[in-house]
Amino acid sequence: MGSKKKSESDNIFSVEGMKIPSIELPDELFEKSLDPWRFSLIGRLNLQNIKFVDAAIILRNQWKLIGECKLIPLGRGFFTIKLDNGTDRNYIKSQVWEVMDQILKIRNWMYNFRPTSQRTSKAFVWVRFPGLGLGFWSESILFKICKEIGTPIKIDEATTKCDVGYYANVLVEVDFASSVPNKVWIGTKYGVFFQEVSIPDCPKYCSSCKMVGHFIIECRVEKAKSNETNSENIITPQQPKSSSEILQQTNSSSTNILNALSSVSVTRSLPFHICDTTTNDNEDSVIHTIHDTPTVPVH
Ligand SMILES: [Zn+2]
Repeated sequence: MGSKKKSESDNIFSVEGMKIPSIELPDELFEKSLDPWRFSLIGRLNLQNIKFVDAAIILRNQWKLIGECKLIPLGRGFFTIKLDNGTDRNYIKSQVWEVMDQILKIRNWMYNFRPTSQRTSKAFVWVRFPGLGLGFWSESILFKICKEIGTPIKIDEATTKCDVGYYANVLVEVDFASSVPNKVWIGTKYGVFFQEVSIPDCPKYCSSCKMVGHFIIECRVEKAKSNETNSENIITPQQPKSSSEILQQTNSSSTNILNALSSVSVTRSLPFHICDTTTNDNEDSVIHTIHDTPTVPVH
């Protein structure tokens, strides 16, 4: 950490002995500069498998706007959606938009938004409820159940049509920094039961950085910490943590909604053991692919 002070004689900051020019923007000038962006939004897609220009065409074809719209790429899958009226802004914000097999992630525009400093612990994932009775397969009931897991976005077509009764499938935005339950307790006037929750396609999640995109065993921050410790203690170097130890730590720091149901004997589970983490190597997991359930499942 270096010293940071402003010189009294002129508009120059001194940071660690280096002089840096300082510019103070007048409020009026800054407000005027922000004004054209006041209806804007920021979108994000995984642009590894689709070009930005193609994604922009798909979005424009879906949107029925009354005003002008400009899509400006910012890097790392982010883009500004520049709009000129509040109606269009609310219209885009109020719906779920799909591009190929992805859901468009939308947030409010920020004057100082930087794609490189964006980190998130949330991702869109399909949440399955194996064996759930067909009487529970309405959107309103499934969304109510999914609110215990994250923010429900939509149910898939096969679930809507009740084509296949093996499991209900709901797209949910899950915050992986929170504990993700592997069971939920459902009560009705006729009785109560535990329902299994399964997330077959989980993003990589680092419990150290609290973000999706990499596992803790791949974490640069953890590796740097480990190297620091090793260089400080050469005689007894610290061994890297085994994956089971890491998982135990994750478990001990987690809270599970099942804790509330203390009268029922349940096995406490790891927050992410419901995920098949061996199948997902997508680095940019913020926007997850959203393939619907196949109509005829493979046995
Ligand atoms: Zn990390």
